[in-house]
Order: sequence, then structure tokens, then C-alpha cells
Amino acid sequence: MIDIKSMTLEEIGDLLKGMGEPAFRGKQVFTWLHRGAVSFAEMSNLSKSLREKLDGTCRITVPKIAMKQVSKLDGTVKYLWELGDGNCIETVLMRYHHGNTVCVSSQVGCRMGCAFCASTVGGKVRDLTPSEILDQVLFAQLDSGLPVSNIVLMGIGEPLDNLDAVLRFLELVNHPMGMNIGMRHISLSTCGLVPGIDRLGDLQLQLTLSVSLHAPDSETRSGIMPVNRAYDVEELFAACHRYFRKTGRRISFEYAMIDGVNDSDAQADLLAEKVRGMPAHINLIPLNNVRESKLKPSRRIAAFQKRLEQHGLTVTVRRSLGGDIDASCGQLRRRAMEQQKGEPQ
Ligand code: SAH
Repeated sequence: MIDIKSMTLEEIGDLLKGMGEPAFRGKQVFTWLHRGAVSFAEMSNLSKSLREKLDGTCRITVPKIAMKQVSKLDGTVKYLWELGDGNCIETVLMRYHHGNTVCVSSQVGCRMGCAFCASTVGGKVRDLTPSEILDQVLFAQLDSGLPVSNIVLMGIGEPLDNLDAVLRFLELVNHPMGMNIGMRHISLSTCGLVPGIDRLGDLQLQLTLSVSLHAPDSETRSGIMPVNRAYDVEELFAACHRYFRKTGRRISFEYAMIDGVNDSDAQADLLAEKVRGMPAHINLIPLNNVRESKLKPSRRIAAFQKRLEQHGLTVTVRRSLGGDIDASCGQLRRRAMEQQKGEPQ
């Protein structure tokens, strides 16, 4: 069965042409899909015979809400979706002053193995399809009734490890006849897969690239992020400099503050040295406690921030949302998996 929501407008047009239909039918079908139609039967401006033909050849992905949590503190909504094959993924909808932001997953699980991250426990199960990434935005908006204006690819998975599907998702979600979310309102976060950064740079998209750095020296970084053994800090920064030269876009560096691991003044100084020569935004993240990990949150965030600012850098500290729900980084999926297995809480 064809996964029709993963297709571009042109591809749907070609498919319908092959069924003997005029070109404008493609636009009708595309519009229905991107408004969240869950069946061909409801596409009332298509003939019954075409609806039946489509139903016999194509499938429409529809995620089921397996769990939903709403924060009483700030209205953050967290969804655990069950996909067609029974796998589960998470999506978070955050309500910021600048608009509602959806944080989407790009894979079921993750194989990057970062020591502090709950998403990677259990490894990668499979990549998501473009439609499954899009559905997270679409159905979060439809379910919550909150218009989504921003997207961050910062949920479960490594987007540059599923780049073809992610690029297709970007094209779809950006489409004027679809959700029409501007590239400048989209951020993509990577743990630092250099070939992917280069490929993305060549496309010169207007999105914001976020690099999960977490340490400015390879010794520390390799200790918490296995990806650093494939692409070390030097290679990563070289790729970031190339990316900036190609796109002219400022890169955002994510830095989760871990007690006694990456929070020294010397590391702040080294970080400042590494980003010299390109406009950078440093986003310090208070470490979320992950039960599977022994790493503890740093108590030096303010001092580290000040030190970086003394070097003239732009630094923000990420505000934590959804503190009363399992809002971060694979926590809800972990919990659901444990409950299925009957493990103690
Ligand atoms: N794979 C991508 C995107 C998913 S992770 C990436 O690595 O960037 C989104 C962000 O949350 C990353 O910066 C990641 O390093 C960070 N993160 C993961 N676990 C965390 C934790 N326990 N506390 C704080 N940040 C965490």
C-alpha cells in the first residue's frame, strides 16, 4: 500500500494522472491529507469510484493517542502516539510567547547512545516516514486546537540519521497548500553527524541548525557522546564553520550542564575559543534527571553563563517546561515500555 501522505504534491498528481484523473485532483487530495483527513471516504469532492480506487491502493497514516499529559504549570502537552505498527513515539507541544512550538521525533528510539539521554536506552527500532513526522505536527494541532507556528526536530531520534525522510517532511510541512510553516520557524537539532551537516548546508535552507555539543573538548565529549568517536570536536567545528559559510545562518549550540563533567570555567573558555569566527548562540540546558543515568545536573549554570558572556557570546538558559509531566527526551516512551513489560516504577 502506498504511504500517500509521504508523497509530494507533484507525486500525488502523477499518481492520479496514472488513474486517468486531471491534474487538479492532486491538489484536492493533498489538501485533504494536510488538513488531517483520516480516510478517502471523507474526501467529498472526489468521485466515489476514485475514492474507492485510492482506498484500494493507498493508506493514510493516522497515529492513535496512546497517552496524553497536560502540564498544570504551563499548559505543555505531551503526546505518546501509537503508530500503525504498534510502535510508540513522543511529541511535545509547548506554549511560548512567540507561538506554539511542537517538538517532533524523527525515529523510533535512537542509536546515538548519548549517556544522558533517555531516548537512546533500548536503541533504534526504525526510522519514521515523512508522513509519521508530519502527523505529529498535524494531529497535535488538531487535537489541542492550538495553531502551531514553530517546529523543533528535537524529540526522539537523530534527524540527520534519517535525513531523506526529514528533508521530505520539511518540504511537506513548509508547503503553502499544507501546514505552510516557514523554514525560519523550524529548528533541526543534531548530535553532530558531519556528513549530514554538510548535506544540509548544501541545501541552504533557512532553518536553524542546533548542534548538541555538550563539551568543547573531545575527551569529555567522547565520554558522554559516542558519536564523537566517529566525528570529533575538531571535525564537528570545521563542519559548523563550513555550514555557516554556505548558509550565512547562525548556529545554535546546545549544552546540557552536567555536574563535574562539562561545567568548568576552563571548558567555558575553550568553548568560546572554538566558536570564534562565526555567530553562535549558546543554549545552556539544565540537565534533566534520567533514571537510567548517574549524571547529575550542574550547580554552576549561572557562573558558566557569565564566563561565556565575558567572551562576548550570546548565551541563554533553556527554560524548563512541563516539569510536572514526563515532558523530556523519551521519558514517556520509556515509562510506557516499562509498564508494558510490568517493570516496577
Ligand atoms: N538527536 C538530536 C535531537 C534529539 S535530543 C540531538 O542530539 O540533538 C534534543 C536535545 O536534548 C539534545 O540537545 C540532547 O542532547 C538533549 N538532551 C537529551 N537528554 C537530555 C537530558 N537528560 N537533559 C538535558 N538535555 C538532554
